[in-house]
Amino acid sequence: MSGTAAVVEKPKTYWVAPISYPAPASSGKTGLWRTERPVIHLEKCVKCLYCWLYCPEDTILRREDDYVYVDYDYCKGCGICAAVCPTNAIDMVPEGGES
Ligand code: SF4
Ligand code: SF4
Repeated sequence: MSGTAAVVEKPKTYWVAPISYPAPASSGKTGLWRTERPVIHLEKCVKCLYCWLYCPEDTILRREDDYVYVDYDYCKGCGICAAVCPTNAIDMVPEGGES
């Protein structure tokens, strides 16, 4: 078939979808407005690191021995870490409550 089809040129610019990674907020400390905070009971922790993996703010931090602790300056108190912990080692407590 003889062709008169138009030649479609490739676009000169390709847009690449931005990839973002969880990171502490660049401004403002969430501890100023958080209503609840996670308290980790290390005696129940089995070092599975689910909390570290799922925290959307990257505020579960790992010690050298793989136990975890919370960066309370930037934790927003969402409770995801407590929800995913398989041993219920994390309690969400009201600010000003149990430490
Ligand atoms: S409460 Fe939310 S922001 Fe804070 S450490 Fe847990 S998962 Fe991260
Ligand atoms: S999810 Fe629970 S058991 Fe796993 S590392 Fe975090 S606190 Fe420890």
